[in-house]
Amino acid sequence: MDNCIFCKIVNGEIGSNTVYEDDNFKAIMDISPSAMGHVIILAKNHAEDIFEMTEEDLSKALIVARKVARAVKAATGCDGINILQNNGVAAGQTVFHYHIHVVPRFDNDTVKIKWEALSVEMDDISVMAEKIREHI
Ligand code: AMP
Ligand code: ZN
Repeated sequence: MDNCIFCKIVNGEIGSNTVYEDDNFKAIMDISPSAMGHVIILAKNHAEDIFEMTEEDLSKALIVARKVARAVKAATGCDGINILQNNGVAAGQTVFHYHIHVVPRFDNDTVKIKWEALSVEMDDISVMAEKIREHI
């Protein structure tokens, strides 16, 4: 992809602070980290989001995420780790090239990731569950 910043990072046109690389992924330090030690794992094959990823790349992605998470945990001494991945503007995606965030977390830190629970009826949850089952 010509104008994709992460493709340019993957192919070395744009520099990055790389912590891990294999045939399919490049893990780099996030330039605007939400916590010190925040790493993003870029797929080498351009895919806009999870829906465009091949099953092969997707199945390897989580294994790389765990490998990176282990290193982040060892390096930062964090108490927990969020592994997350945004799809679509509404979900907070800003770079449309598949990547996974690995964010170290500390007890009582101020990183804002957790959502507030909606107040909902169990019946409405069941109706939605049925709709989802129809599409699986
Ligand atoms: P997302 O909002 O899930 O699309 O995440 C995009 C992430 O890419 C953000 O956390 C940015 O800080 C990060 N980012 C954008 N440009 C660069 C770059 N050149 N090097 C490293 N991280 C970047
Ligand atoms: Zn790309």
